[in-house]
Amino acid sequence: MSDGKVKSMLETAVVVKVTEGLHARPATQFAKLAKEFSCSLQVLHGSTSADAKCAVKLMLLGIREHDQIVLRADGADESDAVERMAQFLSSPEAGVQQATAARAADAAACGAEPVTLVAASRAGASNSDSSGTNSGASTGAGARSETPAEETPPLLGIPASEGLAFGDAYVYLPEPLQATRQFIEPHETAAEAVRFNRAFDDALAALDRQFDTMGDHDGIAEALVGVAQSDEFAGEIRARIAAGRDAAAATLEVGATLAASFETIADEYLRSRADDIHGITRQVVLRLTGRQDVSLAGLTKPCVVLASDLTAPDLARANVANIVALVCTRGSATSHLAIIARSHGIPAVFGLSVPDERLRGVAQVAVDGALGHVWFEPTCALQDQFAARIGEARANRAALDVYRDVEPVTRAGRPIRIAANLGSPDEIDAAKAAGAMGVGLFRTELLFMNRRSLPGEHEQYDVYRRVAEAFAPHPVVIRTLDIGGDKPVPGIAFPHEDNPFLGWRGVRMCLDRHDVFKPQLRALLRAATIGNVQAMLPMISDIDEVRRVKALMAECARELASEGVAFGEPKLGIMIETPAAALTADLLAPEVDFFSIGTNDLTQYVMAADRANPNLASLYRCDHPAVLRAIAMVCDAAQRARIEVAVCGEAAAQPRMIPVLVGLGVDELSMSPACVLRAKKIVSEL
Ligand code: PEP
Ligand code: MG
Repeated sequence: MSDGKVKSMLETAVVVKVTEGLHARPATQFAKLAKEFSCSLQVLHGSTSADAKCAVKLMLLGIREHDQIVLRADGADESDAVERMAQFLSSPEAGVQQATAARAADAAACGAEPVTLVAASRAGASNSDSSGTNSGASTGAGARSETPAEETPPLLGIPASEGLAFGDAYVYLPEPLQATRQFIEPHETAAEAVRFNRAFDDALAALDRQFDTMGDHDGIAEALVGVAQSDEFAGEIRARIAAGRDAAAATLEVGATLAASFETIADEYLRSRADDIHGITRQVVLRLTGRQDVSLAGLTKPCVVLASDLTAPDLARANVANIVALVCTRGSATSHLAIIARSHGIPAVFGLSVPDERLRGVAQVAVDGALGHVWFEPTCALQDQFAARIGEARANRAALDVYRDVEPVTRAGRPIRIAANLGSPDEIDAAKAAGAMGVGLFRTELLFMNRRSLPGEHEQYDVYRRVAEAFAPHPVVIRTLDIGGDKPVPGIAFPHEDNPFLGWRGVRMCLDRHDVFKPQLRALLRAATIGNVQAMLPMISDIDEVRRVKALMAECARELASEGVAFGEPKLGIMIETPAAALTADLLAPEVDFFSIGTNDLTQYVMAADRANPNLASLYRCDHPAVLRAIAMVCDAAQRARIEVAVCGEAAAQPRMIPVLVGLGVDELSMSPACVLRAKKIVSEL
C-alpha cells in the first residue's frame, strides 16, 4: 500500500442458497440490507463484481442458486455486515418470504385462485352468446361454414378457432417510439429535467396502480420501481439530460442499453427483466412525447381485434367478452393463443397473409374462423349475409342443448366419452355447462407460466383438487408439465437449443429436474384421494421414461406415507405424440392404464412439419394417411392390451375427423368446452 499501512478488509466465500438466485426481489432486499451498513460491500462472482448496495448491478451479475460468490467488506461494521449478508444468502426463502406468506394467507382466504391467462371466462360459450350487438356479433363453434356468395374475395389465413363474426375493428399494433429531437440547448436543461421527473413519477404511479389492481403479492412492483429509480436507469438519464440530451432521447438510449445488459444474462428469469425495462422506458417516453399507448384494456365494446401477434399478458388486460373475433398476422392453429380462443368460443384467424401496416386504418371486419377467411370493410350485403348465418348458427347451437346430459353411444352400441380440455379451473363452468363427461386433458403448464416463480406443491394440489371435485365421479386427467425451450418458465433455465421441439421438453426435462417434478407428482398423488384423478405423461418416446416416472411416483408415495399425508393411486396414462411412441405402442401398453393420442404433436412429428409454421399448413394435416396409420397402430395396440385410448389433440373436435377416430377404435374424444355439444351430437348419429 502506498501509505505503508496494511488496510484491513474482510472477505468471505458463500454458496448462494436463495431459491432461483439473486433475481429481482431478492436482489432488491439484499441491496436494502446492505445499505444498513456503513462499510463498503462488494459481491464478487467469477470475474465480475458489483456494489452490494445497488440492486440493478447485483441482478446483472446473474447469480444463481448454488453459485459460489465472495463477499468483500471494508469499514467499521464489516464483520456484522458480512455475517448478516451471508445469512441472507444461505436462506432459500430470502427476499421472498413476504410474498410466500401473502400467498399462503390468500390461499386460505379465497381458496387459492390460480394464475390464469385470461381475464374473464365466457361460461357456456358453446351454447350462449351475448355479443350480438350492432357493433359486434359472433358465433362460436357449431357455425357451419359455407363460402358466402359475395363478390369480394376474402383474405386468407389459418383457421385457428371456428365461428363467424363481424364488427368494428380494434387495431392492436403498438408503434415503435421515437424522440422528436436529440439535443437541447444549455438553458433548457433544468426545465427538461423537471419534465423528465414529472413523466417518470407519473409512469411509476401508473405502474403501482396496475400492480394494485392485479394484486402484487410478490413485491414485484417494489423490485421494478427499484430498477427504475436506480442510478443505472433514472440516474443515468438525468445525467444525460444535464449534459444536453433531450429527455425522450436519453430515456430511449439508457433503456435500450440497460435492457441489452439484462438480455446477455444466462439466467432465464433475470434475462426476461429486459422486458420490464422496455416497459418502463416505453411508459416514460409515451408521457414525454404526449402519446397514448394502445392496449387491450381500451377494449370497452365488442370488437374484432386485429394484431400482429398477441401474448397471454396482452390478453390478460382485455375483457375477453368484448373480443368477438381475433385476427393475427402471425400465429398458428395449435398455438396456446388459439387454444385459449377456442376455449372461449372466439372465432380466430391467424397467419393472415397481409403486412402488419395493412391492419392500420381498418374500420370493420368480417371473419369466418372455420375457413380462415377475413374481409376488411365488408359490404352491406356481406354483413347481412353474416348476420343471417350467425342467427342460424345460434339457433343450431341452441338446438344442441338437448345433448348436454346425453352420454353418446354410436348406433353400433359403442359408448364414447366426450371430455373437455382445460388449462385452468376458470374453464370448469363452461365445460360443465356443455355437459363434458370429465376432463381428458388438464394442461398444467399454464399454472407455471406468466408468473415469477414455480408453483409449489400446495398451490398445485389446490388447483387439481378443484377440478377433481367439479367433475367427480368423471375422470380428470392431469397432464404433467409439458414445457420446453420454446415456452420459458421462471425457475427452469432452459439451455439454448436449435430445435426446441426436438429438445429438452416435457417428461425429458421433468426427469432431470426432480425439484420441479416431485412437487407436481406429490400434488397429483394427494389430489388422487378426490373424485377420479388420473395422471398423464407427455412427450414419451421410450419405455424407460415411463418406468422412471413410476419409480419417482413410488418414491413420492413413500415420502407422503412417512409424513402421514393422505394420497391415492391414480391411473397412469401416456400421451402418444411422438412417432417412437406410436411405433412401440404395443410395448408401452402393458406399462400403462391408458393412452391419449396428442394429434397436434403427432402430426408435426410424423409429417416433419412445424405445427407453428404458417407456411407448412398444407402439410400439417392430421388426416394425412401417415398420421391415420399411426393412430390406427395405437388403437390396435390399446385394444390388444385392453386399455382405453383417447384423442386429446385438436383433431378430436373436428366434425370430419370424429367418425374416422371412432371408426379406428378411439374410446374418448377430449376437446375445447365450446366443441363438446356438437361432438356429442355427431357421435350419437354415427
Ligand atoms: C397434442 O400434442 O395433441 C396435445 C394435446 O398437446 P399440446 O397441444 O398441449 O402440445
Ligand atoms: Mg403435445
